[in-house]
Amino acid sequence: MTMMTGEQYIESLRKLNTRVYMFGEKIENWVDHPMIRPSINCVAMTYELAHKPEYADLMTATSHITGETVNRFTNIHQNTEDLKKKVKMQRLLGQKTASCFQRCVGMDALNAEYSTTYEIDEKYGTNYHENFKKYLIMMQKEDLVADGAMTDPKGDRSRAPHGQDDADLFLRIVERREDGIVVRGAKCHQTGSINSHWHLVMPTISMGPDDKDYAISFACPSDADGIYMIYGRQSCDTRKLEDDSDIDVGNSRFGGQEALVVFDDVFVPNEYIFMNGEYDFAGMLVERFAGFHRQSYGGCKVGVGDVVIGAAALAAEYNGVEKASAVKDKLIEMTHLNETLYSCGLACSTEGYKTASGGYFIDLLLANVCKQNITRFPYEIVRLAEDLAGGMMVTLPAQKDFHSDLKVGKNGETIGDVCNKYFVGNGKCSTEDRARVMRLLENLCLGTAAVGYRTESMHGAGSPQAQRIMIQRQGNIEGKKELAKDIARITK
Ligand code: SF4
Ligand code: FE
Repeated sequence: MTMMTGEQYIESLRKLNTRVYMFGEKIENWVDHPMIRPSINCVAMTYELAHKPEYADLMTATSHITGETVNRFTNIHQNTEDLKKKVKMQRLLGQKTASCFQRCVGMDALNAEYSTTYEIDEKYGTNYHENFKKYLIMMQKEDLVADGAMTDPKGDRSRAPHGQDDADLFLRIVERREDGIVVRGAKCHQTGSINSHWHLVMPTISMGPDDKDYAISFACPSDADGIYMIYGRQSCDTRKLEDDSDIDVGNSRFGGQEALVVFDDVFVPNEYIFMNGEYDFAGMLVERFAGFHRQSYGGCKVGVGDVVIGAAALAAEYNGVEKASAVKDKLIEMTHLNETLYSCGLACSTEGYKTASGGYFIDLLLANVCKQNITRFPYEIVRLAEDLAGGMMVTLPAQKDFHSDLKVGKNGETIGDVCNKYFVGNGKCSTEDRARVMRLLENLCLGTAAVGYRTESMHGAGSPQAQRIMIQRQGNIEGKKELAKDIARITK
């Protein structure tokens, strides 16, 4: 067993030469950067919990290739139990971090690649699956993180990859060599890219014969020559750079991360190539990765939702209104919505099936319904949380004001005295605890964590319209018409 601890994972990042830029400057020690470190702590939690006996069943699995115990984030799902445990693990991590813990994109990419490479080889006699298995064994043995990199910049969305004015707007092959390929382009909004040891790159849409140079999939180290990353900023992110601000940050230990990843003529050796021009399989890989990630949201967003609901309930309690029936009813509604999302995550897992490779895939229709609900319910849960919290979550003075000794009152009261007097709640909680829960809610609803809980709920794993297209394809309207005809005794 070679599973890393959280601390070992953090130390493993220090060995990488990943190029990171933020605010127009190169960040040398990005592992300890106050804006980046919370996102690293979040990934570290996927390692920490794997060593706790009470979570071993969810957090670990037995590799179907080596028979060794591995972190579930590197596992290939072998049955529907594995699929369900994946969702439960993600809910647990959402609860423990109240944030996007980033490692699922790699897990979903590994699983999508596993089955797709098998089917490409079946059709074309290529050797991608064996290559991929070797890569997978290395990822399992060394317990590494991969960034599942899918989203290209896309430029003019009405045009295909080969039809763009700038050919680099979809990642492409610029040179084919005996020993590999050279690629150029970028991947946008890459979750956890800086915190990943490897990048597992996939095409972003279905492709045609003219897009052959864009129909590529491969793995490469995150610090490969030619790769660099430009950090994506989040609402209220610079609070993490201030002194005496841990309460103001709202969640000072954990956070998400997205970056623009640029591939500036990166060489990829043959052994790490898993698709090279088989454009007719680009759609399958996209559909499988997106399908897995739409399932994932039925776990991670639910776990974060649990924290939102808990924080809203605490805010109501500290305000002294927890017994009001309207408050109870809002908490019931939030719970109902959150558990509906969880039901979708479990349902698409329970109805999963075995692919030709032996790896299991989710029920695609139910996974798309899951994600479609995710584009809506967290917004309603946040609306109700803001309703319960009251305006204080966005008007509270800074932590430095609560701690200020500056005398401002006629009787010598300090700014701190005044803040503590007027922001008092039910008298049973400290003003500081009340501020902590309000700031946590602000973080989840409007701050750095809102990237993961709100906008990512909308656009992550594909925007709402992408799911509606899949729901239309999978919905079997013709079959339903037959049902209606049968009942109505229509014979034609
Ligand atoms: Fe995992 Fe959710 Fe973050 Fe995706 S959005 S990487 S599923 S925590
Ligand atoms: Fe995501």
